Amino acid sequence: MNLTDARSLSAKDWHARAEALVPEGRHFIDGVFVDSSDGRTFDDVNPATGALVARVARGGQADVDRAVASGLEHFRSGVWSRMAPRERMNILYRYAELLEAHAAEFALLDVLDMGKPVQDMLSADIPASVECFQYFGEAIDKIEGTVTNTADDALHYILRQPLGVVGCIVPWNYPLMMAAWKVAPALAAGNSVVLKPAEQSPLSCGLLARLFIEAGGPPGVFNVVQGYGEEAGAPLALHNDVAKIGFTGSVEIGKQMLIYAGQSNMKRVTTECGGKTPQIIMGDVEDIDRAVQYAVNGIFGNQGEVCNAGSRLLVDRRIAEDFSQRFTALAQTAFVAGDPLDPATTLGAMVNTEQQKRVLEYIDIGRGEGAEVAMGGGVPSGWDHGAYVEPTLFTGVNNDMRIAREEIFGPVGAVIPFDTPEEAVQIANDSIYGLAAGIWTGNVGTAHRLARDIEAGVIWVNCFDHGDMTQPWGGYKQSGNGRDKCFESIVAHTQSKSVWVDIAQY
Ligand code: ADP
Repeated sequence: MNLTDARSLSAKDWHARAEALVPEGRHFIDGVFVDSSDGRTFDDVNPATGALVARVARGGQADVDRAVASGLEHFRSGVWSRMAPRERMNILYRYAELLEAHAAEFALLDVLDMGKPVQDMLSADIPASVECFQYFGEAIDKIEGTVTNTADDALHYILRQPLGVVGCIVPWNYPLMMAAWKVAPALAAGNSVVLKPAEQSPLSCGLLARLFIEAGGPPGVFNVVQGYGEEAGAPLALHNDVAKIGFTGSVEIGKQMLIYAGQSNMKRVTTECGGKTPQIIMGDVEDIDRAVQYAVNGIFGNQGEVCNAGSRLLVDRRIAEDFSQRFTALAQTAFVAGDPLDPATTLGAMVNTEQQKRVLEYIDIGRGEGAEVAMGGGVPSGWDHGAYVEPTLFTGVNNDMRIAREEIFGPVGAVIPFDTPEEAVQIANDSIYGLAAGIWTGNVGTAHRLARDIEAGVIWVNCFDHGDMTQPWGGYKQSGNGRDKCFESIVAHTQSKSVWVDIAQY
């Protein structure tokens, strides 16, 4: 069912679809769904209810070997890597249309897997994923080699060629969209792909791979291996026939990816490893209610399980109290826990009970550090059967506290007052992370100075979380070394080949 029709479904309709679901949790290798070589599975649980959604193939070395071998064989055959650019473009256009045509299926799978509100899938994740395949489809014939300026006795040109088999290791917070960001540029550049979904959210990636075949993509070019990080992710990242790993996840595992590359074949590694995003609200902000609205959405949207969640609210001390009051007043009604399958729900469950526990522990840590809970701080009443956490705001936070330094990955914001723009920049940059930042000011000079001085890969001025596929997405510092979306990303999935031709003699 397409996006338009899916948007008219009621909670009852979504539940009926969930009841009727026959989930596919096997690997997808060589164009078909297959069990793990050793037949093992793991349980995939709905975090909003605790109910079993599917038994999913638990991949290991042998499954990764099969998937990589299939990818490499089809890469070398040229069936995709040497297909005429226009043909590949047409397949990715058809693919994008098919994703849109299966919007309801994708929405259901991600909601059941990780507990996010279905409305978020329909308004954000799915349109963005469709756009991603369109964008990289369109980019295919824009990649060009170069003829360089050499002396008369030589012709020298540079070819841009695909890398080979690309491993994509993705997280669970936007299961479909994160897969799209990694897979689309890799495929568009002519590579084969082995995708390892997060174990918490495996299902939509299987459907994604199947639709590639329906769109006309050759079997074996896009493979999926399900399973745990250490069992399926590590063999992929350590594989000597994998030319690149595209990773999104934690700093700890991002660093591990670089180690794996060094321990194996020096494969390229691009990482996106989250953040501790500051939103800086200057005293001269022109529309404080707009800033508050974006601050609320920026930390509570997607349950705060967002790499660029605006978790540090740096507010000019003169307006900090007013800001916090407006923030709590708005957030109480804007983000209310509910059934993720109800289109009216704005706050779903955390991805699982471990994540819920982790976030609640951070809330205790914040209390212990002396920060004040201005709202939330526990499990929403009536929702203790699922992995829910209340939207929580701490005030009186300083940047040395753990709640200001560590990525919580939950709906927990911290108001940190500052006195001068210089101090705001110093606090913003006092972090191992540098993914994104928001700046709210009525002064154009302040806006540009802060945008220049803040160490982050993405800056929003008088807005937050805006963007499209043209926007490079990635971090400074330990937020990672790659750039998703954008033209740079497809180029990063190619390598240069220098061809020198001696033309001195007739
Ligand atoms: P999070 O803490 O948000 O779950 P992780 O960094 O642990 O983030 O996981 C992101 C992705 O990396 C997931 O697909 C996960 O399975 C995978 N992963 C986790 N540990 C490893 C590992 N040791 N080797 C390879 N992949 C891993």
